[in-house]
Amino acid sequence: MKSSLFHNYSRREIEIVKGKGAMVWDQNGKEYLDFIAGIAVCNLGHCHDDVVEAVEKQLHTLWHTSNLFQNSLQEEVAQMLTNNCCGNYVFFCNSGTEANEAAIKLARKYTGKEKMITFQHSFHGRTFAAMSATGQEKVKAGFGSMVQEFVHLPFNDVLSFEEEMDETVSAVLLEVIQGEGGVNIGQKPFLKAVEAACKKYGALLIVDEVQTGIGRTGKPFGYQHFDIEPDIITVAKGLGNGFPVGAIIGKEHLFDTFNPGSHGSTFGGNKLAMSAAKAVLQHVFEPEFLKDVKQLGDFYINALKEALKDVEQVANIRGKGLILGIECDAPVHEIILEAEKNGLLLVSAGTNVIRLLPPLNVTKEQLEKSIEVIKASILHVGCNV
Ligand SMILES: *Cc1c(COP(=O)(O)O)cnc(C)c1O
Repeated sequence: MKSSLFHNYSRREIEIVKGKGAMVWDQNGKEYLDFIAGIAVCNLGHCHDDVVEAVEKQLHTLWHTSNLFQNSLQEEVAQMLTNNCCGNYVFFCNSGTEANEAAIKLARKYTGKEKMITFQHSFHGRTFAAMSATGQEKVKAGFGSMVQEFVHLPFNDVLSFEEEMDETVSAVLLEVIQGEGGVNIGQKPFLKAVEAACKKYGALLIVDEVQTGIGRTGKPFGYQHFDIEPDIITVAKGLGNGFPVGAIIGKEHLFDTFNPGSHGSTFGGNKLAMSAAKAVLQHVFEPEFLKDVKQLGDFYINALKEALKDVEQVANIRGKGLILGIECDAPVHEIILEAEKNGLLLVSAGTNVIRLLPPLNVTKEQLEKSIEVIKASILHVGCNV
């Protein structure tokens, strides 16, 4: 049958019709271990009982009031966010792109400057400003002139950064681990240098935590591994466990910049979205939960390295917590299709990296099972090259 959808996505053949925890089922009843989790969205797995219960309860009470009225659920979720990071005030929106868009607007208005530094291979979203910030040409192709003025520098390169940085810069926007770009981990000395230069020149440090936030790395936010303090943090993906919700968290000094009428969103912070986010954060920000994520992540990366150490197609394995990448000298797309045949859902990153994003409450047995399938899939494809 001819599709009535734009073909802006290259979709796989299967449709996932049911999920529970880290398991999903397709339209033919075939079972898969889901290590995509909706692209780092379903951090508590599919249909987590407490999230289902919270949203179900809200569903029968009230969905949406607009931001013309008080919203105590927003206050509660905002407090849970600010209690777990260096930020003080929250604005709610509906996606990662919108969060970055809000952060860019906030930084411009606060500093009165336009120039912004971002990095090659970054991904910040697809609205005009977020797309302009993104350091990947393929995202911008065909869309004409971009929002001025974004400069894209090599990631982790202190020298080129210090050469470019001066008092004309409004903000530096970065991912501490570039997710879409290939699971590229920021180096602490580089991130510290960026933070110091921002302070020196009066620029804001914006950390895009859309993929690395909400417990993914074993801490509430990814930046907390690197001893830096952003002025603005942007989040989305994992915050609603599949319910569309995004947010920015800004520091005290930014409070007056977003004054009444300066920015907004009709849906942002909607009661249904907030009921999901509240239930998510009640779990994910528990110290015991985060400790488990760290332990599972450590176990996983070590077990992967051990299992794949003699596989010549594997060039590098890296990650933090439960965002991991396996860099391959073999066609990653084919490995992923082979894994799917064998009941494991994976997604790529960059050009040659298999990205692993299991739900944060995955079991050790499920991690072990995934390693078997990954190894067999790489060997199967590698031997046919
Ligand atoms: C996914 C992603 C975005 C965009 O989020 P959307 O919800 O798709 O708009 C922005 N930044 C990073 C780091 C992401 O991973």
